[in-house]
Amino acid sequence: MQCLSCGNIWKIGYDEFDTAKDRCPKCGSLKGVKPKIVFFYESAPLYKDMMKYFDLLSNPKSILVVIGTMGNVVPVADMIEGTPAKKILCNKEPSKFLPEDLFDKVYYESIESTITKIEDDISSWWES
Ligand SMILES: [Zn+2]
Repeated sequence: MQCLSCGNIWKIGYDEFDTAKDRCPKCGSLKGVKPKIVFFYESAPLYKDMMKYFDLLSNPKSILVVIGTMGNVVPVADMIEGTPAKKILCNKEPSKFLPEDLFDKVYYESIESTITKIEDDISSWWES
């Protein structure tokens, strides 16, 4: 669990937590106590760090590899559109949120079967 008032994080294991009466053990807050998970429409804590790297896509020598996302939670398509960097998509299946024409290479396979192809793509781009 996490307390949004004081930032305290604690484990409850498999015990039931009653949000109507259980309080933060550190500050006693009843309001703003929630499971320490990211719900839909919440920003994941490390998204802010990840977003910094999208600035690198303005460099044509940069390479972005997108793996295992539908592109609807993090709007990858919006962030890469029009950038000169090389871009690779590796997903199990197509997603309407990730238009193929935004990528230089698209693989609809498992990452295990694709990783050597991605390595080859990156090597050939770096050598050119
Ligand atoms: Zn607290």
